[in-house]
Amino acid sequence: MYQDSEDNGMNYGIAARRFHCRDCNASFISLGSKTIEYCCVCHSNNIETKNDVYEKKPYIVPFRKTLEDAKNDYQKKVLFHPLVPFVFKSKATIEAIQKVYLPVIVVDANLQGTVDFLAGDKTKIMKEKVAFIETKKYSVLADVNLNYHHIILNMTSKLQDRLFHTICDYQFDQLLEYNPNALGDSAILVDDKDLNAVADLGRQRIMKHAMAVIKSNINHELKKVNNNGALLNFVNSKEVLVPVYLLTVHYKDKDYIYLMNGENGAVSLELVFGKIEIILFSLLMFGLIFLIAFLIAYFL
Ligand SMILES: [Zn+2]
Repeated sequence: MYQDSEDNGMNYGIAARRFHCRDCNASFISLGSKTIEYCCVCHSNNIETKNDVYEKKPYIVPFRKTLEDAKNDYQKKVLFHPLVPFVFKSKATIEAIQKVYLPVIVVDANLQGTVDFLAGDKTKIMKEKVAFIETKKYSVLADVNLNYHHIILNMTSKLQDRLFHTICDYQFDQLLEYNPNALGDSAILVDDKDLNAVADLGRQRIMKHAMAVIKSNINHELKKVNNNGALLNFVNSKEVLVPVYLLTVHYKDKDYIYLMNGENGAVSLELVFGKIEIILFSLLMFGLIFLIAFLIAYFL
């Protein structure tokens, strides 16, 4: 399996400059000595610069969508939505959409072994107006051999799994070998999660899925696990940088995130409706209806 690097910074191939955002605590790097002025997560300019050199080289899923694609898509979703607060629509907000590479680990997994289920059938017997339920129980052994491909493990805490998993359908069959040109002007978020904890969560996710698959193949009503002897192993792990466009909008003490998959354009958008906007829109609708009613009454 993959190894935990001793120095968290040894991941990115060539000389790079490391930054830290004092506002949201994100760590990120740019290639060479290029200075990044804004935080790629929260767009703050409260950034401290550190220098570092890195050795390991991650694979890359290159951007296929442009920054303009992301801006256009975002504008289409918020600009003409009457209930979305103004701060979501301001030029400064739209200009703050960031081109970012996220650190992930892509693994294949194999699940093998025997799962022992307590299965059974229920038979209802009506006898002298009293309902009995007769249950027959069986032990069912399910031999399992499942292969999972391209399981993606999110290594940055700056983006919640819940959100990331809605857009993370990347084509890992077309991975680029590490190549600084492919990274261009993007910021690269540094992995800040504990590898073992992330791997454990990944295992739980796969096991949960596998259990659902196995249970659906058992033709009995009861499907209680007696003993799970299936073992899950990760194989072929790769460190990969995946492309996203990221925007964090701060509104009334909460952060709302717009996230676009930089490869296929899949989007996740957290929106909120503003109270003022709802009131204004209601008044406008009321006024319009009143006007139409008035015109109809006047001219007919
Ligand atoms: Zn920040």
